[in-house]
Amino acid sequence: MHRSEITIDLGAVRRNVRVLRDALGPAELWAVVKADGYGHGAVDVAGAAVGEGALALCVATVAEALPLRREFPGVRILVMGPASGREIAHARDADLDLAVSDDAIPEGVRVHLKLETGMGRWGLSELPAPPAQVVGLMTHLATADSDPDFARCQLQRFEDATSDFQSLIRHAANSAAALRLPESRLDAARCGIALYGLSPFGEIPSTDGLEPALGWDSHLAQVRRLAPGESTGYGRRFLAESETWIGIVPVGYADGFRRDMTGTQVRVAGEPRRVVGTISMDALAVEIDRELPLGTPVTLIGHGVLVEDHARVAGTINYEVVCGIGSAPARARRTVLDA
Ligand SMILES: *Cc1c(COP(=O)(O)O)cnc(C)c1O
Repeated sequence: MHRSEITIDLGAVRRNVRVLRDALGPAELWAVVKADGYGHGAVDVAGAAVGEGALALCVATVAEALPLRREFPGVRILVMGPASGREIAHARDADLDLAVSDDAIPEGVRVHLKLETGMGRWGLSELPAPPAQVVGLMTHLATADSDPDFARCQLQRFEDATSDFQSLIRHAANSAAALRLPESRLDAARCGIALYGLSPFGEIPSTDGLEPALGWDSHLAQVRRLAPGESTGYGRRFLAESETWIGIVPVGYADGFRRDMTGTQVRVAGEPRRVVGTISMDALAVEIDRELPLGTPVTLIGHGVLVEDHARVAGTINYEVVCGIGSAPARARRTVLDA
C-alpha cells in the first residue's frame, strides 16, 4: 500500500475554467500553471485548461515554459518572471512571450511590458513608447483579494498609462480580480488559484462556484491506546489526560503536511478528527474515539476537508499549502482522473 495517494481531478479543473470563462465574458482566460501547476501538475492542468478554452499559459520561469512548449505547440506561453540573457535566447527559440520590467527590451521575442502601479515589486515606473515586439501591457494587483479600493486605484493608474495603446493586449487581473472585480478584466485575465478550485479569498471555494481538484488520502498505519499521562510524538506535545485512542498516518512534513498544521481536522473513516502532537517528517497522529482497524481510510484533503482550513491553522494561505505537497513517486502515488 502507498503511504498516500494524491488525486488530481481534471474534470474539476475543466468546470473551474468554465466558471472563470463565464465570469470573464469576452476577456480571454490565461491559465497560470507556475510551480508545477500549484503542485497539481502543470502539463495535466494546462491540457485541461486549454481544452476548455484557456487561450494562453503563464509560468514564472523560462525553464517552466520549455516542457509546456513541447506539449502545446501553438499556444501562447507567457513567462511572467524576469529572464536572464541566456533565458531570453531560449525564449526566442521556443517562441515564448516574455514579461519585461526594465528598460532593456529584448528583440526578436514577443514582449509584455509590465507596469508598476502599486505592487512595489517588478515593473516599469514609466511606460516607454512600445517598440514593435511589444504585444501586451500588464500590471499585477496587490490587493484584489483583500482591498478592492486599492486594486481599483491600481487599475486606474494602469488605464491612464495605457489608454493610448488600445491595439495591445492589456491584462491585469488574477483570480480574485477576475471573480469579483469586473473592471479588472480588460483583454485577458491571468488566473491561477481558481483553476485548481481553491479560493483566492481563503473562503469556502464553492462560494465562488469553484471545486477543488486535488484530493489527498492515506490510512491508519498504526493504532494505539494511550494511558493517562502517555504522549505521542516529538517533544511530548500531546499528553493524554484520559485513556485516548490515536491513529498514526504515514504522512509528514516531508510530504507537505506542514508541521504548523497540528490542530487541523482531517477525516478518519469519513468522520472529522483532529491532528494532535508534533507532526514529524514522515508521520502524523490523529485522535480517534475508538479502536479502528489498520488501513482505515484517512482523508487529508478533499471530500469536504478544505485546504483553506489547513492554511488558516498554519497561519498561511492555500497557495503555499498546495505548492508544498510532494508527489514524488518514492513518497506518494499520484493519480490523474479525467472525467
Ligand atoms: C501567480 C500570478 C498570477 C495568478 O494569481 P492567482 O491569484 O493564483 O490567480 C497572476 N499574475 C502574476 C503576475 C502572477 O505572478
